[in-house]
Formats: sequence, structure tokens, C-alpha cells
Amino acid sequence: MPMMTGEQYEESLRKLNLNVYMFGKRVDNLVDDPIIRPSMNAVKLTYDLAHQPEYEDLMTATSHISGKTINRFTHIHQSTDDLVKKTKMGRLLGSLTGCCFQRCVGMDAMNALSIVTYDIDQECGTGYNRRFLDYLAFVQENDLTCDGAMTDPKGDRSLPPHKQPDPDMFMHVVEEREDGIVVRGAKAHQTGAVNSHEIIVMPTISMREEDADYAISFALPADAEGITYIMGRQSCDTRKLEKGTIDRGNGLYGGHESLVVFEDVFVPWERVFMYKEYTFAGRLVEHFASYHRQSYACKAGVGDVLIGATQTAAEYNGAARASHIKDKIIEMNHLNETLFCGSVACACEGHPEPSGTYLVNTLLANVCKQNVTRFPYEIARLAQDIAGGLMVTLPSEADLNSPEVGHLVAKYFKANGAVTTAQRMRILRLIENLTLGTAAVGYLTESMHGAGSPQAQRIMIARQVNMAHKQQVAKKLAGIDEA
Ligand code: SF4
Ligand code: FE
Repeated sequence: MPMMTGEQYEESLRKLNLNVYMFGKRVDNLVDDPIIRPSMNAVKLTYDLAHQPEYEDLMTATSHISGKTINRFTHIHQSTDDLVKKTKMGRLLGSLTGCCFQRCVGMDAMNALSIVTYDIDQECGTGYNRRFLDYLAFVQENDLTCDGAMTDPKGDRSLPPHKQPDPDMFMHVVEEREDGIVVRGAKAHQTGAVNSHEIIVMPTISMREEDADYAISFALPADAEGITYIMGRQSCDTRKLEKGTIDRGNGLYGGHESLVVFEDVFVPWERVFMYKEYTFAGRLVEHFASYHRQSYACKAGVGDVLIGATQTAAEYNGAARASHIKDKIIEMNHLNETLFCGSVACACEGHPEPSGTYLVNTLLANVCKQNVTRFPYEIARLAQDIAGGLMVTLPSEADLNSPEVGHLVAKYFKANGAVTTAQRMRILRLIENLTLGTAAVGYLTESMHGAGSPQAQRIMIARQVNMAHKQQVAKKLAGIDEA
């Protein structure tokens, strides 16, 4: 089954048996849980769109190992054209879901591993790349969703892994057996983990020799024995338990994160892709981070939704023709397209690594993500400016439907005569959802910290710019000959 439909994906999740906790209780039926279901819907769309002819070019690719048509989320980039299509696919899905659709982390993990397993083999004479390619063939053949799990809890940030008072603050190996290894630790902020078939684990930082037990990468089925998921709490999440749809803002889709805990979990050798090769941990982190910093074209897609909602709110309020509103909408578009430019640029400037996989231009990918840590906040500020205070003082949908006060809500919150109060409430609730509610997790805080916090990109930018060249051209034009 090289490409599942959305329905088949949903059915495949029902066959898994993940150990998930939320609000202190085990969740037995994840797929139909009202809080988790919208996040599953967003991943489901990545399957459905691949079968629609108008999206085929972006959503599918030709596997370099089987030659079959596969979902692009399981593809290893073979050209800069592949990288550009990945960027456009992210924007498309962001715009159609208005949230994080979660499937990029697995794609980015697999692309990074396709490079680094090859590099380790070249230097150490190991056989990781063959192992990884066998695993990739399994993922492509079954069209699986993989969670790329990088971020450890990290404990005391001033201490390296081996010096932590609690050694489990970073994922590590606790036992080596003939048939595999046993691992312990946790991965935090795991986007979409509970909607995944597989979890691909990578180290979270560069490692030294003393940290060798922590320099591990492997893949496990999401329901492997010993893995527990604890769902993150989101602002306004329990609105999904209420009757009605207006107050949710986005009635269909939403992202979700969890803490994934590994309590002495067995990993067979054929699923281990790095084992104590500590000098390569940093390279795997950097490649994954660069790919995921490119992936943040998704935020331009979510920005499309927010800009569209804001323009609509301005029209519903009767304010759309005011010159300052028009100018603010232009500013929002300028910022949003600048986000997209960074992702396109790092894709166009990509190059092949020795493994044959195309990697983005890592300097430009870091510039892209640095913009993502800032511009969505400004776009959200302008959206709230234009939407007005009503976005946060609106009564509930239940009040709108109340036999006692419903007519008052409908009367006093009516603006543009052609628009019902319910329609006006819907668009304001969507803006609230994107800038303050469940979707703000993905659009704002994840823009700040996902794929590395702002300082991580600044370090990479400092390391990657060619300062010697800049000084050389400046000195030449200034007529300075230091020799
Ligand atoms: Fe994909 Fe964006 Fe979500 Fe990351 S934040 S998984 S890039 S949709
Ligand atoms: Fe993310």
C-alpha cells in the first residue's frame, strides 16, 4: 500500500494501542477523543490531498529506492526541486488546516538520518545506512506517519548529559544485549506523536566522549512496550468538549503535543541508526534542525488563514476601507511573504550531500526560522488590532442561542447589515483561536521555540556567514592593504 487514503490512515491508527494519558486519565479511544481528534484530522489531510489530482505534484514524489509514487512526507529529497515542493506543500497544508499538521518532523528526521548514517559509515565502517534504508523502505511501503523526536527534558541546562543528577534527563542506553539495546529517557513537546505510527528518536545536542551513552538514534513503533504519552494542556482546549462549534474557532483541525516517556524500552539492532558515535550527534541535530527550520513555511500557510480572517473581520466590522486598515493588511502580507521567501530560498540554494540526499542551505534555513520567531507575533498583533476588543469580550455561543438573552447578543453585536452576528462571532473566534487559543500553540509559541529557540539560529548564523569574505571586500574598497 504505497499511499494510504485518509480513511485508511484513520483505520490504521485504530489498530495501534498507544498508552496515552490526558487530564490524569488513560485515553482508550484516541481517534474519537474530542480533544485529540482535530489533530488527527490535520494529519489525515496529508493523506487525502495526495490522492487529489490538483495537489499530486506537491503531495507526492517518486521513491528513489522503489521507483513507486509515494506521499512526499516519506520522501528523501533528490533535487532542489524536491526541496522547493516540500516548502510549497507546507504552506498549502498550513493554509488548509490553520494549524500544525505534524507530519513534517518525521520527514525531516528521515532526511537527516539518510545523510548522517551514510557519513558515519564512511568514517567508522559501520552499516547504519543500509539499515536505515531498509527502515525507510518499510515506512514508504506502508505510508506511515513518523514522529521525529529530538527534544530531551534536559534538566539543569548548565550540565552536560553525563553530569545530570538524574541521568534520565537525556535519552540514553541502559543495557546492551545481543539482539539490541534498552533505552530510557523522555522526549518533550512531541508534535503529533499520538497520531504517529512510528517514533524516530535522535539526540538533542552535540555530545562529548563522556556522553557516548546518550549519542543514540533509533526508531520504534509508537505503541512499543514501555512508551507512555502525557498530553500537553492547551489554552481553551476544553472548548472542544462543549456543545456548538463557534467558540472553538477552528472546528475541524488543531495540532497537539505530548511528553513521550521511554521506560526501559527494547530496540532491536536493525532499528538502531547511531550507537555511541558521539562525534556525529551534533551533525544529526544540525541537519534535522535545518530541515525543520525550512519546514516552517507552514507558518506562512497559517498566516494566510489569519490574514484572510482579519480582512473578513474588517469587512464585517465595516472598517475595511479605512486607509490605516488597508495599510496594516499590507504589512501582514509583507511579513507573511517574507517568511515564505526564506523557506523557498534555502530550498533553491540546496545541495547534494555525499549520500545523495539534497540538504537545504543551512545559513538561509536559519535566517528563515529566525524570521519565524518574530513575524507571526507582529502579524498576530495587527490581527488583534484590526479585529477589535470584541474578539476577547464576546459572549459564548450558548448566550447567542439563549431564549432569554440571545436576541440581545444578536442585536448589539450586529455590525455590517449583510452579515449575521453568528458569522461575525465565527470569524472573531477564529482569530482568537489563532492568536490566543489552541492554534496559538502552533502559530506563536511553536514559531518561537519549535526547531530550536531563537538563540540557536543566531549561533548558527554567526557560524555560517563568511565574515572573512565580507571584511576582505570592505577593505579592498576602502583601499586598505594590511600586508
Ligand atoms: Fe510541520 Fe509546521 Fe507542525 Fe513543524 S510546526 S510539524 S513544520 S506543521
Ligand atoms: Fe514544529
